[in-house]
Amino acid sequence: MASIGLKTKDETRHTFQGQDLSIQLNHQGSRDYTKVSFPIKYGLFSRLETREYIFEFNLNHEIRHAKSKKRTWLDPSEWLKRTMGNDWVYYSTGGYSGVYEALGEYYLPNLMYPTNSLLGGTPFKKNDINTIVNNWHHIISQVSDTDMPDPFSQWVSAIQQQTPEGLQTKARSLFDISGSRVTVMPPDARHVDYNIIPLNISDGCLYKCRFCKVKNKKKFAVRSRQDIHGQINRLKQLYGKDMINFNALFLGEHDALNSPCDVILQAVQDAYEAFGFHASYMRNHYLFMFGCVDSLLNADPILFEMLKHLPFQTFINIGLESYDQATLDLLGKPITTRKVGQAFEKIQFINDTVPNLEITCNFVMDETLPASHTAALMTLIRDKVHRTKPKGAVYLSPLTFGTPSRQVLYDFYKLKSLSRFPTFLYLIQRL
Ligand code: SF4
Repeated sequence: MASIGLKTKDETRHTFQGQDLSIQLNHQGSRDYTKVSFPIKYGLFSRLETREYIFEFNLNHEIRHAKSKKRTWLDPSEWLKRTMGNDWVYYSTGGYSGVYEALGEYYLPNLMYPTNSLLGGTPFKKNDINTIVNNWHHIISQVSDTDMPDPFSQWVSAIQQQTPEGLQTKARSLFDISGSRVTVMPPDARHVDYNIIPLNISDGCLYKCRFCKVKNKKKFAVRSRQDIHGQINRLKQLYGKDMINFNALFLGEHDALNSPCDVILQAVQDAYEAFGFHASYMRNHYLFMFGCVDSLLNADPILFEMLKHLPFQTFINIGLESYDQATLDLLGKPITTRKVGQAFEKIQFINDTVPNLEITCNFVMDETLPASHTAALMTLIRDKVHRTKPKGAVYLSPLTFGTPSRQVLYDFYKLKSLSRFPTFLYLIQRL
């Protein structure tokens, strides 16, 4: 039996214990994304613990998690995460507000920018959180790297060199690779804690719906193979040593599914090889993309057949928005309910027949929408299906940003209880 409480030889080699701090290099976190109600850290990373703080760094020595040990910290099981886009996200348990029921995850990402969240408070107004966000580098700069063995002092010096300004520049380099920031990640990216590598195989979308806050002015266009290849090379450079912690690819932009089948498959294969996904520290591989009603209805059946054989769990998220014509017209979404119905049927067929592919869909929610919107939605997600489906999540996306509404949250729980599909809120997040 392994001795409990004693450090293994390997741990001793990677651990330094000083008077006021400890360092753990190359800590092996979880290799699987798991849904659990306690904090879990993924991948290979290193940790610096001081009397007051715990900081975690990726393999490029860039800060990725932080929390305070002070008693004033909101909850010992909550923490801050820095994203590749250099945003700080505060992961909260949400108290008793039913985060898991609402999001399908045990932790609620609280964002620093306006979004459509119906849950959570204003953690970034708290002193403890603000101190880390604004002063983490100053705090780690105070750590003296003398009186510790070489590998540890070199590591301390390396993390100190990754300044907030440098990290901001790196985030801008990430956006430059595809030419724009990912303004919205697919809701399914929650399955990998939003740790996705963005590769744009196309730009823009087909509809330019009036209600949409994440659209851009770009006409839908497919990127050239040369361009995709160039992005892959630059992404590989940018993620550097930390690439081993990634196993998820996001094909952008807003309607990758509308790209020709061979472009999609080639991009996936090239990225898989270049990013070394076969050797990722994280188990399994994930592929995410968005699609729309027309791109789904027109998709080449070969695509779904080929996805079946890829070493990926694929999620395609389709924006259906409503099954009610009055609502579609109000939203300025230039499609008909007939097409929405056809797309929904096709989604069910694919979800029932392709094991490693899940097509999920989005519908909007808002107090101002006609009552016919909810009634029509119910026919799709309840009346037309006779049994509960384990797959094919339905995401409900509140229309308004920055104004959490109790009524909309109440409506969501009501819809969820009646739906025959896994039903969650769509929290709009950027990368
Ligand atoms: S909802 Fe989708 S299709 Fe409509 S404008 Fe936004 S990104 Fe484009």
